[in-house]
Amino acid sequence: MKNNNPLSSVDALNCDNHYARLPAHFYNKQVPNGISDPKMVSLNPQVLALLGLDDAVVGSDALLQLCSGNYLPSGFEPLAMKYTGHQFGHYNPDLGDGRGLLLAQVKGSDSRGNSSKSPTWDLHLKGAGKTPYSRQGDGRAVLRSSIREYLCSAAMQGLGIPTTQALSIVVGSDAVMREQVEQAAMVVRVAESHVRFGHFEHFYYTQRLDDLKLMLDYTLTQHFPDALTAEVPYLAFYKQVVSTTAELMAHWQAVGFVHGVMNTDNMSILGQTFDYGPFAFQDNFDPAYVCNHTDYSGRYAFNQQPQVGYWNLMALGRSLTPFMDVEPLNATLQTYDDIFLAKLRQLMRAKLGLQQVQDGDGELIKNLLEILASSSVDYTYFFRSLSVFESTLDSSFERTETVMNSAIRDQFIDRDAFDTWALQYQQRLTLESSVDDERKVAMDAVNPKYILRNYLAQQAIEQATAYDYSLVNQLREVLASPFAEHPEFEKLAALPPEWGRNMVLSCSS
Ligand code: AMP
Ligand code: MG
Repeated sequence: MKNNNPLSSVDALNCDNHYARLPAHFYNKQVPNGISDPKMVSLNPQVLALLGLDDAVVGSDALLQLCSGNYLPSGFEPLAMKYTGHQFGHYNPDLGDGRGLLLAQVKGSDSRGNSSKSPTWDLHLKGAGKTPYSRQGDGRAVLRSSIREYLCSAAMQGLGIPTTQALSIVVGSDAVMREQVEQAAMVVRVAESHVRFGHFEHFYYTQRLDDLKLMLDYTLTQHFPDALTAEVPYLAFYKQVVSTTAELMAHWQAVGFVHGVMNTDNMSILGQTFDYGPFAFQDNFDPAYVCNHTDYSGRYAFNQQPQVGYWNLMALGRSLTPFMDVEPLNATLQTYDDIFLAKLRQLMRAKLGLQQVQDGDGELIKNLLEILASSSVDYTYFFRSLSVFESTLDSSFERTETVMNSAIRDQFIDRDAFDTWALQYQQRLTLESSVDDERKVAMDAVNPKYILRNYLAQQAIEQATAYDYSLVNQLREVLASPFAEHPEFEKLAALPPEWGRNMVLSCSS
């Protein structure tokens, strides 16, 4: 799409609002309540390109007003979706888009700029004002949470982990009350779908089976066309969701990501990371890390995520029981563990630079995670540094192993534990005749140097609160290619300061 008139470029977005074609009681149609004096904090050019928009649109007033809820191009049909879900294990019938609106569904191009196979992209404006599902909330989002969602979407995309994306952050002059007065902000979230597990739970728990069937048929038609032609389409759909969710959990565990609020209303039907709240990446590795300070029981601790994924899929499966026997659903759910473990092993082998599958790999990985935890080693830094592991003793220098790998070894309080593991690793590398230089290249391509550490997000937020958006923009750029070296941004790979380690975050956003 080449258009020199910026306003008409946004207006040229080609809408196909298929969700709005569902019956009126599936949602509430309403226009956004825009924010005042909007300013563009950051715009993601890669997401702009997904929508088929030309660079000419960057800096246009129409785009700014669109991203701040003040302008609706023709063809947009904003609506708040109704859904429910299980929050912390308890069913809540009162959920729905309480502060976000699906603005439109637009034809774009795929990630390679190919428009012939173009999906429709949901444009969801987060912070768009009250809806019938706002309960006690004000329908607003603040700058802090908007920056976190925007940056983490870019980071996940850069890491190759399925995620929703974010086009923009806009800040306004309106004051929003949280624990303190904060600046109102909005994010335009972009995803192939905003359908959550909770959409199906809503119709199941209200026993509106015709609507449940409509919702399923809609979802299959739009997002699971292969399932439509399967022998039992809803089962084929469930199989796909079980599989993509299991693989997503493996990705999170392998990269050290804690979602923080894995309620079923925050679970994407597409197996993407969805609804960024009090998420965190592991700094010093702690398997029991709980990043959400309202999660008193640790339900969503890092090491609980795989089984919560299973539990959430069980909740989704229950919603399908009006249409099929329980047995095939259960049998499908029972495949979860194997899919998860296979994916996790594959990812962890890659992180260790292992090309072959060998007996004992599970043990090697388990032992490593144990010593990372007991020595409180920085998870990301460790794996990045492990690529320089020297696997063969260099006899000409008569160096001992401990000297050879000292940069890695020194990260451990318990050096003996590292030495024991390093010997196992060295033997394992020898088993597949691993070549150090080659392994380094492969490992650096899967072990990120740059992740969205909480202290970095916090610094970006503090500067942005004082109207300096440079760090937000630097982080977005660097996190888009986290495996590459960015010498000019070396400081963004630094370990957290004491105050910034394994932070616990507020859900109030
Ligand atoms: P979350 O924990 O962010 O997934 O939100 C859970 C539910 O609360 C969803 O239905 C949200 O739409 C709603 N919600 C969260 N924050 C607000 C807010 N500031 N105003 C209105 N509704 C909100
Ligand atoms: Mg949510």
